[in-house]
Amino acid sequence: MFTTRYVKELPGLYSKVMPTPLADTYWVGWNNRLAEQLGLPVEPDDALKSVLSGAGLFQGHEPIAQKYAGHQFGGWNPGLGDGRGLLLGEWTDSQRQVWEMHLKGAGKTPYSRFGDGRAVLRSSIREFLGSEAMHALGVATTRALALVGSSERVYRETVEPGATLLRLTHSHVRFGHFEWLAFSNQPDQLQVLVDYVIRHHYPQCADADDPVVALLEQVVANTATLIAGWQAYGFIHGVMNTDNMSILGETFDYGPYAFMDATKMNAVFNHTDETGRYAFNQQPAVGLWNLQRLAQALSVLTDPHALAAPLREYADIQRDAYHGLLNRRLGGSNEAPLDGVLLDEWISLLAAEQKDFHLFFRALADRPLSEWVALGDEFVDRARFLTWCEAVSSRVIQDDTARQHQMQQTNPVTVARTHHLQAVIEAAHQGDFKPFESLFAALQSPFEVRPEWATWAQPPDDPHAHVELSCSS
Ligand code: AMP
Ligand code: MG
Repeated sequence: MFTTRYVKELPGLYSKVMPTPLADTYWVGWNNRLAEQLGLPVEPDDALKSVLSGAGLFQGHEPIAQKYAGHQFGGWNPGLGDGRGLLLGEWTDSQRQVWEMHLKGAGKTPYSRFGDGRAVLRSSIREFLGSEAMHALGVATTRALALVGSSERVYRETVEPGATLLRLTHSHVRFGHFEWLAFSNQPDQLQVLVDYVIRHHYPQCADADDPVVALLEQVVANTATLIAGWQAYGFIHGVMNTDNMSILGETFDYGPYAFMDATKMNAVFNHTDETGRYAFNQQPAVGLWNLQRLAQALSVLTDPHALAAPLREYADIQRDAYHGLLNRRLGGSNEAPLDGVLLDEWISLLAAEQKDFHLFFRALADRPLSEWVALGDEFVDRARFLTWCEAVSSRVIQDDTARQHQMQQTNPVTVARTHHLQAVIEAAHQGDFKPFESLFAALQSPFEVRPEWATWAQPPDDPHAHVELSCSS
């Protein structure tokens, strides 16, 4: 069943825009697990391909571009909105959950500014695989249902094939939606947006003494938990502008993101981020800064002092969630979790020697406890590793089977590393989509070891090669 709740309930927060069809499209990716979960056809059909190419529409829904604003790299920009994506419809699944279907790369809109409204195959593959990898790790994210490529050329740093991606989530509302209504002096519309978000996504806030404060509390908790997930799995978003911050606390708008190879706390991959504003170790603080912008917008509706209280909770929620994840990854129990100092020391150890962020977690997971000390040979500062190892060994779950089971379910073998994505993209540019299929399958089951996925478990030849990713996606 299709609904139209955004269109009906949020007038003034969109423009009606028809997609601009893309020529000669071909299937690249179809997420049949997600399709099945949603009660959609397990095999894509021509009608769906026509929707993805911008020629067909979902029944009963007019395509729209959402209007929002945002802080980009700290600077205010009121002129934002969906510049190359359209909300095509809302699908209700059998659990009565509503999924918004957003077509990225659908052509120009009133918010395209200097852009062409298109997406390239390269970045669409990166978003498709990155978001499904994130989901499989248990970190909140938008989903990817379908991806088509096109023979149409798109101009970026070089000429590249165009593509569209069908992105799904329960809401595309961003912090920037609230900022726009506060900035443009529309308090009544801002209240309508708050009521809409509470009604559909945070119903538990409706009966609170101050629903606006209650909403901020929930968004603070979800955002803090999200960023804890990123930090625990070595993910760098790259463009944490407030227009890329989901009100649901999901990983949103995959651009120049990366899962780290060598552990570098100040790693930056987005080459337009010259000051390192969105470096790996800045993400927790930026999350709070972005929440402060949201709170500022909400302060139009309620007492600003009351909004400050949830913000003060952010750091503790973020740290506790992060330590909770590291505890599971390192074999601590829920009842007697490992001390935060020991958890932080492990990451410091990896960072001090710029060790691979993922391999050593898995190396611990795959060994009985008695063999952990042998890993000391891998560290230049062997003594530091052994000190840590001795302290941690007596505190982790002692039963090898139980501990290894937990650790092997939380420490991925397959990670959406940049060089793997690059290999898949290069093959796709040559018309070979087998590597895409294979990496997609491996990332959907990231904890599983299979001989045919062995190549995806490999770190890059040179983990220190300085990869820079383009924002021009
Ligand atoms: P991003 O930093 O990728 O989230 O993009 C920031 C803004 O630029 C959003 O409003 C996008 O819709 C818009 N945008 C990005 N790329 C394009 C493009 N190729 N054409 C039109 N608008 C774009
Ligand atoms: Mg964006």
